[in-house]
Amino acid sequence: MSGSSTNGTSTTGATGATASTAGSARLAAISAVTNYKPSAPALDFTKTPAAELYASNIFSKAVMKERLPKNVFKSVLKTIETGAKLDPSIADIVASAMKDWAIERGATHYAHVFYPLTGQTAEKHDSFLAPDGDGGAVTEFSGRQLIQGEPDGSSFPSGGIRATFEARGYTIWDVTSPAYILENPNGTTLCIPTAFVSWTGEALDKKTPVLRSMQALNKQVQRVLKLFGHTDGALVSSTAGPEQEYFLIDRNFFFARPDLLNAGRTLFGAKPPKGQEFEDHYFGAIPERVLACMLEVERELYKLGIPIKTRHNEVAPAQYEIAPVYETANQANDHQHMVMLTLKRVAEKYGMTCLTHEKPFAGVNGSGKHLNWSMGSATQGNLLDPGDTPHDNAKFLLLCAAVIRAVDKFQGLLRAVVATASNDHRLGANEAPPAIISIFLGDQLTDVFEQIKAAGGASKSLPKGTLTVGVDVLPPLPKDAGDRNRTSPFAFTGNRFEFRAVGASQSIAGPLVAMNTIIAESVDYVATRLEKDTAGDPSKLNGALQKLLQEIITQHGRIIFNGDGYSEAWHKEAEKRGLLNRKTTPEALVALKDKAVEELFEKYGVLTKRELESRYDIYVEQYCKTVRVEAKLTIEIARTLIYPAAVRYLNQLASAGANLKALGQNFCTGTIEKISELVKSLQESTAKLETELDKHGFADLTAEAHHFCDAVVPAMVAVRTAADGLEGYVADDLWPLPTYQEMLFIK
Ligand code: ADP
Ligand code: MG
Repeated sequence: MSGSSTNGTSTTGATGATASTAGSARLAAISAVTNYKPSAPALDFTKTPAAELYASNIFSKAVMKERLPKNVFKSVLKTIETGAKLDPSIADIVASAMKDWAIERGATHYAHVFYPLTGQTAEKHDSFLAPDGDGGAVTEFSGRQLIQGEPDGSSFPSGGIRATFEARGYTIWDVTSPAYILENPNGTTLCIPTAFVSWTGEALDKKTPVLRSMQALNKQVQRVLKLFGHTDGALVSSTAGPEQEYFLIDRNFFFARPDLLNAGRTLFGAKPPKGQEFEDHYFGAIPERVLACMLEVERELYKLGIPIKTRHNEVAPAQYEIAPVYETANQANDHQHMVMLTLKRVAEKYGMTCLTHEKPFAGVNGSGKHLNWSMGSATQGNLLDPGDTPHDNAKFLLLCAAVIRAVDKFQGLLRAVVATASNDHRLGANEAPPAIISIFLGDQLTDVFEQIKAAGGASKSLPKGTLTVGVDVLPPLPKDAGDRNRTSPFAFTGNRFEFRAVGASQSIAGPLVAMNTIIAESVDYVATRLEKDTAGDPSKLNGALQKLLQEIITQHGRIIFNGDGYSEAWHKEAEKRGLLNRKTTPEALVALKDKAVEELFEKYGVLTKRELESRYDIYVEQYCKTVRVEAKLTIEIARTLIYPAAVRYLNQLASAGANLKALGQNFCTGTIEKISELVKSLQESTAKLETELDKHGFADLTAEAHHFCDAVVPAMVAVRTAADGLEGYVADDLWPLPTYQEMLFIK
């Protein structure tokens, strides 16, 4: 065996694996780490400082200002900044400027980029070249080509919205998210973010509902602002800052693990002697190869105007995090897709694979995508910033109460939008955050709401001045919640809420749509109440607000929990409070069928009944497909990799025993017996898994999903238990899969 580094593809897949697979992957990885040299010339940030690179590949406002006629630029800007309807007559001019700009940057093609319900990014490339009729060609890019594309999207999930015979799907230019240049060693492509809809106008994608929900939120928040005397109408946008957790492991290991390759997570693997118990990885020094990779990832993202801010080691060995400065929800969503793609693409250049799966390795921390959320406008700033003055506090407390009400009222929906087969290994498993949705407010803010709640009952006996406790006499609220609570799924963190239950591999679109819409509904509720109670008289606002806040906190305060969300005690307490605890995806997704949820999305024009139904079907189907693939892989790996290794080792032990016996020596057969037992258990559990997987004829998709959840998943766990047991006995040189120890610690 040589230690020379290959890309490891020869060991791909179960069938090609031999007894030496693990050994060679391990040696190749060690070699890759110890001999690490960047394959490309080192990046030189002194030549092109990051600030100069920043946004150099986007068709930004600055570029448009320079290249578009003044009136056209103004018109585009108006749409971007105020949400005004796009004037289609300007499209030809914008397209032409965009084309020239892109061709100067080496573009040969343009692509409409869209976000189908698979949660992935999709793109269709078209050449700028068109035959000129005289045997030559000209470059061409019309306004129509910019505004609308028609990919044959019939293979994307539509949940029955669109039958294949009516396969038409349109991509529509989203002017609020800038076009950009995607670089490739052999040229560049002009990418245009688009919405993807059916010919009947139904959303087939994740972007359209985000845009609709932002519009709904803006409309409702304007009403509250008006009550406080802010009538400039500046567009209120929801803002998002998603923190992405991920693992990086050597590619040699990745290709030697059919489970990682096909399912994105390990289906087998005994716990290593050392895991994360020393907490020595979190915020530790970043390994050189990893840091080199991060620097290039960030450089690529800077070019696209993606404001990456933070990088650090995460809790688990080989786990890291990348986080941007927040942006408007729609942009943050597009950019988040680019972050995931770029991490994966660049990691390969450094001989590593980026895993965004929620739980690639059992027994160490999984990966989430903490979604920081707030709302604000150019004139108002961040509306969830408590501010320094009582007046700001009142507005803040009102909006904060609206969020509390929304989260309590629609906890089922929030749980549903983070429900995936892969995220089940975090939520509802023994990991934070739990599947119970609750809000962490921090001691000080909780105390303020407690006062508001109490003040009502005692108001008569209180002197006049203190009647307004919670509004006028409030002390400035803390900008930074001094304390932190990592176990809360939905935490107030000083000037925003952080939804921590989102999975690392997920698109943030679904969670954003849910948050924007439920909060729009709550803001609608409070605005309607206050408009009625004040009847146009601003002097009545304080009193009306007091009453409303008190009411909300009394009705919805049960959702607030500042303790350890991980503890058994909380699970009991939450049940007492009547909070939902939906541990698995099939249980959680039913919220999409709630009448209240259906009405919510219809009322605010975010999703029609049909669009919502289609999403339920698609997500349930995705769950079934994911578990089915994992189950098939489990069977394949158990039978063709692990069983043969165990039998080979048994054979070696048996012949050693026979030989020793021939020499008149004793041979203890304890290990043989133990391995035989585990092999038997492996065979039986594999057979059982196969039986469960073969079951058919379920009443509907929902019933099938429950079968996968209740029967197939546990059957997979049983196979794993036997196999992981064998890993502790079979000779290391025969073990066919790279071990946890190797994958997590060789870097
Ligand atoms: P922590 O690890 O303490 O949660 P990070 O710095 O890793 O903090 O991430 C905080 C995230 O919150 C960043 O992406 C940041 O941009 C985002 N954020 C800050 N303010 C807002 C806001 N007003 N709206 C949305 N996201 C915000
Ligand atoms: Mg965070």
